[in-house]
Amino acid sequence: MHELSIAQNLLALIEDEMAKHDKATLVTVKVRHGRLSAVVPEALTMAFEVLTAETRLAGSTLVMEETPVVLRCRACGREFSPESPSAAFAPCPACGEELGHEVLSGRELYIEYLELE
Ligand SMILES: [Zn+2]
Repeated sequence: MHELSIAQNLLALIEDEMAKHDKATLVTVKVRHGRLSAVVPEALTMAFEVLTAETRLAGSTLVMEETPVVLRCRACGREFSPESPSAAFAPCPACGEELGHEVLSGRELYIEYLELE
C-alpha cells in the first residue's frame, strides 16, 4: 500500500519538526496533495491513524487538501485546469492541443502546516 509509505515519510518529517521545535504534542497536520499525486485521502488517513496509534502522536488530526491540476499548453502557452483528473489527454481550451502539456501544479505532496504543542 502506497499510502502507508507516504504516511511513514510524513511521520518522519513531523518527528523532525517536533524535535527541532522541542514540542511533544502534535495537534494538527495539514497535508496538501495534488490530484496527480494519486493519494487516496481515506487510505492515507487510515495509515496515519494506524501508525500513530499508541504513540505520542495518537489523537492528532490529519487534514488533507487537494490541489487542482494546472497545465500549460505545449502549443500555445495557455494555462488551464482540465476537467478530467488525468493530465495525459487534456485538450487545451484555446487551441485543442491534447498532448505534452507542462504540469504546473497537481503533483505536489507536502506538509502545509503543523500545529504543535
Ligand atoms: Zn493551447
